[in-house]
Amino acid sequence: MWKTIGQTKAITLIEGSIKTDSLAHAYLLVGPEHIGKTTLALDLARALNCQGDKKPCNQCQSCTKISNGKHADIMILSLDSPDIPEDDKERTKIGIKKIHYLQNSASLPPYEGKFKTFIIDGTEYLSNEAANCLLKTLEEPPPRVLILLLASDESQLLPTVVSRCQRLELTPVSSTDIEEMLLHSVSIDKEKAKLLSRLSGGRPGWAIDATTDNNYLAERAEKLDQISSLLGEDWGQRLLYISQLRPDRKSAEEQIRFWLDWWRDLMLTKCGCQQAITNIDQASILERWTHVLSLVEIKDFIRSLEKSLVQIAMNANPRLMLECLMLDMPIKPS
Ligand SMILES: [Zn+2]
Repeated sequence: MWKTIGQTKAITLIEGSIKTDSLAHAYLLVGPEHIGKTTLALDLARALNCQGDKKPCNQCQSCTKISNGKHADIMILSLDSPDIPEDDKERTKIGIKKIHYLQNSASLPPYEGKFKTFIIDGTEYLSNEAANCLLKTLEEPPPRVLILLLASDESQLLPTVVSRCQRLELTPVSSTDIEEMLLHSVSIDKEKAKLLSRLSGGRPGWAIDATTDNNYLAERAEKLDQISSLLGEDWGQRLLYISQLRPDRKSAEEQIRFWLDWWRDLMLTKCGCQQAITNIDQASILERWTHVLSLVEIKDFIRSLEKSLVQIAMNANPRLMLECLMLDMPIKPS
């Protein structure tokens, strides 16, 4: 049984290739952080090495060893994989020593399984030197070796690396599937499971992490309060608020996406589609704001939020973008 949730297309393709013995020697698994790339990679490793009938069985010695990170033929390389010689002390790049280590290991036959599987988690962090070195292995792969490259940001990869792999795109998982997974795998009440599955943006790994992050929902509640307060404040107060936010690009993007979720919920509520909102615990507050804001005001501000995300991606100044948004946001005393 596959531990991966959703991703039917990718799983069907892999199962078909295993059945017809036509597996590629390298796959590129692409998708946002926490969507399940590592789980899918390990599922594939389990399916290939499984000793049971219905592969992956998750019960045989091989499957259990892979799940526990104890299988000698499965290796995960990442920015902080600790057992491999490190050539970048600051750990901002996956350096060439790790690729040399992979190549040495790949030249030896599998020790206990059918396939040696190398998972590079964070392929976008390969240094240029390391990526070019990896090309040699991708071009002339040793027998019984499978290379799985995992990447959240495909635009950072060398086109020569991408073109030598079969690409598998992981897509957002439905909130119903994530809710069900949470109820079966962690101790959580139904309401919280429903809320976290909606907030997860289709990323099961994020939802699981959020169940153990005690601060997350408290910080979110505070940020939601601020949205309502900002609507009632003048420009001077809004600028003061922006000056207290972290000015880096990633934080600004997170803030804007958070606002975007709330404003989209507001539009859905205004249009009578409450059942589709993300912030389900905010239903009554959203309903109240729909009486204060017009559909045009909501739409216009959503457009501003989307535009600012595009501009930040194109290197616009994040602080300036947040300030502009404060100008665009309608002023409505609560
Ligand atoms: Zn098995």
